[in-house]
Amino acid sequence: MSGSEPDLVANLRRRVGVFGGTFDPIHNGHIAVASLALESLRLDEVLFVPAADPYLRSLPQVSITHRCEMVGIAIATHPQFSISTIDATRTGHTYTLDTLTDLKNEFGSDTELVLLLGADSAVEFARWKDPQAILQLAILAVVSRPGEIDPSLLPDDHPARCATYIDELGVDISATQIRENLRDGKPTQDLMPDEVIGYIRDNGLYRK
Ligand code: ATP
Repeated sequence: MSGSEPDLVANLRRRVGVFGGTFDPIHNGHIAVASLALESLRLDEVLFVPAADPYLRSLPQVSITHRCEMVGIAIATHPQFSISTIDATRTGHTYTLDTLTDLKNEFGSDTELVLLLGADSAVEFARWKDPQAILQLAILAVVSRPGEIDPSLLPDDHPARCATYIDELGVDISATQIRENLRDGKPTQDLMPDEVIGYIRDNGLYRK
C-alpha cells in the first residue's frame, strides 16, 4: 500500500468503506476489492451502493431491482458487507458527491467514510462532479486493476493522486466480459458467486 495513509486519530472513529458501482452484474472482482480494502484499511464495514443511473456511463443493461438483488445475494455470506439503496432510489444521474453528502448525514461525524475505487475509476475521477468537495467528505482509496495505472503516475494536478493505493489485487474480471459471455452462451463459473449465476439463469438476464 502506498500514498497518504488515513490519519491515526481517525482510527478511533468508525470507518466505513463506500463502494459505489453499476454492479451489472456484481462479480468476484468487486468482492475481492471490498475484502482487500476491509483488511488493508481496517474498515469496520463496506457499504455496496448500486446506482440506478450512474453519471458518465450508458444505462445499465438490467434493472436496478435485479442489480440490488444480485448484490444482496453476493454479500449475504460476508457479515461486514452491506448494501445501501441510497442511489437505487435517486432520480436522475447519481453523483458521488450527493451519495457521500447523504451518507455523512446518515452516519454522523463519528464515522469516517472511505471511498473505494478501482484504478480505472480513479483515472475518471477528475471528470466527476466536484472532486475536491468529494475529498472533503471521504478518504480516497484506490485498488489496482490489471492494465490500469496506479494513482502516483497520474498528473500532479489530478485529484486522485492523493489516494491511498492498494496494489495487491490484479483480478482480471469485468462486468463487460461477463455480459458478453452470458450473451454468447460462454461459461461464467469462477467469475461470480454461484448464487448470482443461479439468479441470472432463473430470471433470464443478459440473454441476446
Ligand atoms: P463494466 O465492465 O460494466 O464497466 P465493472 O466490472 O467495471 O463494470 P462497475 O460496477 O462499473 O464494474 O465497478 C464498480 C467499481 O468497482 C469501480 O470503482 C471499478 O473500478 C471497481 N472494479 C470493478 N471490477 C474491478 C476489478 N476487477 N479490479 C479492481 N476494481 C474493480
